[in-house]
Amino acid sequence: MIKIALAGNPNCGKTMLFNTLTGSNQYVGNWAGVTVEAKEGRLRDEQDVIIADLPGIYSLSPYTPEEVVARNYLINEEPDVILNIIDGTNLERNLYLTTQLCEIGIPVVMAINMIDIVKRNGDIINLDEISEHFGCVCFEISALKGTGVKKCAKKAVELARTNKGVPPIHHSFDDRVESALHFISAMLPDGTDMLHKRYFATKIFERDSLVSADFPDCESIIRDVEKYYDDDSESIIADQRYKYITSCIDECRTKSGKIPISDRIDSFVTNKYLSLPIFVLIMFGVYYISVSVFGGFADYISDNLFGESGLKLIAAQFLSSINCAGWLISLITDGIIAGVGSVLSFVPQIVVLFIFLSFLEDCGYMSRIAFIMDRLFRKFGLSGKSFIPILVGTGCGVPGIMSSRTIENVNERRMTIITTTFIPCGAKLPVISLIASGLFSKAWWVAPCAYFIGIASIISSGIILKKTRLFSGDTSPFVMELPNYHMPTIRSVARATWDRSLGYVKKAGTIILLASCAVWFLSDFGFYNGRFGMVSRMDNSILAYLGNIAEVIFVPLGFGTWQAAVATLLGLVAKEEIVGVFGVLYGSIGEGFTALSGFSFLIFNLLCAPCVAAMGAIRKEMNSFKWTAFAIGYQCCFAYFVSFCIYRIGLLFAGGRLTPSTVIAFSALAFFAFMLLRKAPKNSRLPEKETVNAA
Ligand code: GDP
Ligand code: MG
Repeated sequence: MIKIALAGNPNCGKTMLFNTLTGSNQYVGNWAGVTVEAKEGRLRDEQDVIIADLPGIYSLSPYTPEEVVARNYLINEEPDVILNIIDGTNLERNLYLTTQLCEIGIPVVMAINMIDIVKRNGDIINLDEISEHFGCVCFEISALKGTGVKKCAKKAVELARTNKGVPPIHHSFDDRVESALHFISAMLPDGTDMLHKRYFATKIFERDSLVSADFPDCESIIRDVEKYYDDDSESIIADQRYKYITSCIDECRTKSGKIPISDRIDSFVTNKYLSLPIFVLIMFGVYYISVSVFGGFADYISDNLFGESGLKLIAAQFLSSINCAGWLISLITDGIIAGVGSVLSFVPQIVVLFIFLSFLEDCGYMSRIAFIMDRLFRKFGLSGKSFIPILVGTGCGVPGIMSSRTIENVNERRMTIITTTFIPCGAKLPVISLIASGLFSKAWWVAPCAYFIGIASIISSGIILKKTRLFSGDTSPFVMELPNYHMPTIRSVARATWDRSLGYVKKAGTIILLASCAVWFLSDFGFYNGRFGMVSRMDNSILAYLGNIAEVIFVPLGFGTWQAAVATLLGLVAKEEIVGVFGVLYGSIGEGFTALSGFSFLIFNLLCAPCVAAMGAIRKEMNSFKWTAFAIGYQCCFAYFVSFCIYRIGLLFAGGRLTPSTVIAFSALAFFAFMLLRKAPKNSRLPEKETVNAA
């Protein structure tokens, strides 16, 4: 078995190369922090070669959890070759990591990626110079276009097979540092792998907290060097690496001096005044097109394909022709076909949404949104870093919550986990669409409105939480590099769309199928006149009985019917199931809702606790029962508040009378405004140490 590790800066194309080499289908996004775990796969043509896709790292001195994952893999898993992917448009920063990778002691193959953009900008990279300086073979590749990829992989495999144990050359620091490193190397215990000696010596010199070293003698050596340079050891090392790169970069690359196209687009898209309107316009377009323009498809499919004149009829006729029992026919047509069918009829819309999202991600626009939102967030003391999980969450909340790992500050991370699922994910789209088409005759504003209510909820929750003792503190800096724009290939958009849509269809075939059977059973059986059996009126079913208990909670929100209560509860299994439940219970959504109560229902379900999978992710990332409970409690309370205000104040606007409920709604709104606008209490958080002393 041979192991090749793909290492490089965030967003340099590792995952894309991994997918090409292994034929797998990992998530590629055009921003930093997409891959948070090491993924292994087998090389397509050579089954004994394992390729590992690692999270992006800027250096081997990790700051974030995913950087630790990458480093541990490189050191502990002992790959035979490191394939260092380098973003050719950003050589300096990428080579900084290369200088460190070369010190590990494992052969390194360099792949200068994004060569298509480099060429478009008119720059020239001198491969021979780079090879010579860094002592490793060097290739030009484009993971996107597939150029040079095969040749590069072949070389890496060849090196892994033949060159075991021959370390690459590494660059030298100043004499003083070098002699300190030699000294530390000599102190290392005999067991230390010869290969890694230089790496460990450097780490000890930098006083890396994760490399446990107990060599008091080293400390005095390090101090001497620090005194000489009047700087701390870590900075000395970093400084000398950069000096080295600067000294050779001009030989390695010739710049054309043209302003890259990406920068020209950005002067527009990230412009102070234009950026927000452009963002609103784009997201508006995305939701308008996928929900309203393609909304007709859902109706058409549910009516003709799965409906009374379609599959339902055919199945019913066929089953009765083979003398199937009545209850079974009902289970299949009214349960499975109705439930699964209503979820599946939204597939075209889901596909359209996913095409848009994949396109926006891949072309590089999504990372601009995080950048733009950072400017907005910062005004409120929030960090734009929190917006990346939210962007991922637009597809599915689970990876969204997982990508909060890239946020170091624990308060900000928790806050992000709590608010990420406010954004409507793919599974919520059918619910939006159902309400928009069933109750608002596909009004253009309903779907975009749902999206922007999600964003507003995130921002306002952020502001409110930040002002409480639990989350107060400084906002951590957010440096986001903006990746180059590029035209996504049809293949990569298709792949991402296919992947996500397939997930949706799979869920329809599993969870939704089971849930539909359960809903059918519970809504068709019950106690009537003291006997258990099939009931002719659904109001007598077990489901109605259970729903009746739960419905009181939702009476103030305007949808206190047992059907809506059941749908909301089953929405916790999977949000698509809300549509599935209505498919089984209602002929049309208009039977159970007015436009206003439908809207209140929609908003509640968008904002309340997410599905079990997402709740599981929250539990995992929070790593605490208390915090998970807080998150879910907050989401439900917030959703309840928003829906209550919408419904009660909406009633008033629709010509209703002022009732005690309206007064409560206005008071709640006033309280909300107060929490939002109040000054953050000073010293709201006691310094941790003092608390301990007091106790
Ligand atoms: P990772 O963070 O290193 O795993 O990077 P990804 O594989 O997720 O890719 C980051 C972005 O760079 C994606 O938008 C890719 O489409 C894009 N990308 C990757 N390789 C190339 C390339 O060779 N040329 C261009 N133009 N874009 C690329
Ligand atoms: Mg990746």
